[in-house]
Amino acid sequence: MTAKPALARKMPGTHSERELWRILHSGQARCADSGLDPEEWFPLSADVSRARAQAASAIALCTICPVRAECLEFALRQWFGAGGDGVWGGLVAAERRAIRRQWLGGAAVTEFFAEGRRSAS
Ligand code: SF4
Repeated sequence: MTAKPALARKMPGTHSERELWRILHSGQARCADSGLDPEEWFPLSADVSRARAQAASAIALCTICPVRAECLEFALRQWFGAGGDGVWGGLVAAERRAIRRQWLGGAAVTEFFAEGRRSAS
């Protein structure tokens, strides 16, 4: 009998929402016990540059988070719920809004980790 691969090793887009939720609550998420003020995760500005500056500490954690891709995938699926606000996967809401159409068209979330890919919509 072969071992079942770890959930986090699959492409994020192939996970069910239940699997994504389990991954995000598996103890790997850097935000779980970061000690950051919760408001650091919710920049007030709608402008991308200002929002990123306001959430810089949170975004810095996301960039080293091992479940970043799963986090962004989950947020995009939850766009009309929790995923529509705050920082998810190192992206602020305006950035996720900009990539959502491409993501709905089949682009993998990892394609948007490069800053230049997030400005196109
Ligand atoms: S990518 Fe950021 S918001 Fe998502 S689980 Fe990791 S630290 Fe938390």
